[in-house]
Amino acid sequence: MISLVEAQEIVIGGCEPVAPVIVDCQQMSGRVVAQDVVATEFIPPFDNTAVDGFAVRAQDVTNAGIELEVLGVIGAGHVASYEIGAGQAARIMTGAPMPQGADAVVMIEDATVLSANRVQINKPARVGEAIRKIGEDVRAGDVVFKTGALINAAGIGVLAGINARKVMSYPKLRVAMLSTGDELVIDGSELKPGQIRESNLTMLSAMIAATGCEVINLGIIEDDEQKLEATLRDVAQRCDAIVTSGGVGQGDFDVVKIVLSRIAEMQWMQMAIKPAKPFAFGKLATSDARVIPIFGLPGNPVSSMISFELLARPALRKMMGHTKNLMRPTVRAIVDAPMKRKQDGKIHFMRVFGEFGDDGRLHVRDTGPQGSHQLASTALANGLALVPDGQGLAIGAEVEVMMLA
Ligand code: AMP
Ligand code: MG
Repeated sequence: MISLVEAQEIVIGGCEPVAPVIVDCQQMSGRVVAQDVVATEFIPPFDNTAVDGFAVRAQDVTNAGIELEVLGVIGAGHVASYEIGAGQAARIMTGAPMPQGADAVVMIEDATVLSANRVQINKPARVGEAIRKIGEDVRAGDVVFKTGALINAAGIGVLAGINARKVMSYPKLRVAMLSTGDELVIDGSELKPGQIRESNLTMLSAMIAATGCEVINLGIIEDDEQKLEATLRDVAQRCDAIVTSGGVGQGDFDVVKIVLSRIAEMQWMQMAIKPAKPFAFGKLATSDARVIPIFGLPGNPVSSMISFELLARPALRKMMGHTKNLMRPTVRAIVDAPMKRKQDGKIHFMRVFGEFGDDGRLHVRDTGPQGSHQLASTALANGLALVPDGQGLAIGAEVEVMMLA
């Protein structure tokens, strides 16, 4: 057996970012930039008013009660054709460019409109008051996003704001997913003796999508060597990674093992964790001279889910250019219900639900039975507690929890 950390070094260390592509800024949410993004424009692009009010000369409004002549109204998107002279003002709306001559804006709440062209200002004005200066948010020449930066929705807004409509970025990975096993039924038909309904293909496809990848769903492949090999060789030409579920354990009918060993350079691992002990990682050479990773997950549903979380997800994130938070964050939590286990040299990942208590600490308790085939309790969990080797943890103990949501 190897430690989880060793397995992560093999798997995550064995994957590299894929070649960058040019991406439309609208598609950038959740993606990583592959080249510094340098602003070529200023935000805001000109001095403008932060409030609805009156553009004035501060030197005219040194005390409350001053009356000014109103030359006109300036709306956002419109430029005044006149200059504000001594004793003059202009009605102005948020975002409108400052008129020549004015150096302050008095908000509408601090003014009394006397007539169509006269206003009384009820408060002294300061130079620069309520003016948003050119480039206050972003300046031309600024590196707005460094290589490796993750773009969120606000980031897309910034890209649009500086007119960076096309961005050099890491692409969405195309990840092929298949499940193996003669016992699996996916089409809703009645179960024959010995059959079960498949859950991993459906679950892992959702997990791959949630990782920000495009899923190529290959369905269920029977335990048939020829069929599996043909499917893998074919899909390798049009994907960036392959995830398989099932057949990586010690069973006699593990055709996945036979086929993967033949077509790819594989490492078969037994990790000192529970669930999710077996894991296979390999590299498959494609006919277009790429090398793509294969993540061979075990068939037990909870094992496949946990090994995807611990190994495949961080590796896929690295391939998409992420440098930060490859792994889910962990927090120290308080155990609210005993976490029983036996000593076996492994870290046990226990499905838990965590909530913050009045003490400001995260409190966790298990969500039900912990067998590697028992997915129902996994569905209720928002974290995995890393219960260290030993006799388990008592109420009040501290435990590290990997947050899933
Ligand atoms: P395997 O890793 O193929 O030996 O499978 C281990 C266990 O997981 C067996 O009980 C399988 O029936 C079950 N299993 C394998 N694949 C799936 C799947 N896609 N959905 C649900 N259970 C599965
Ligand atoms: Mg199987």
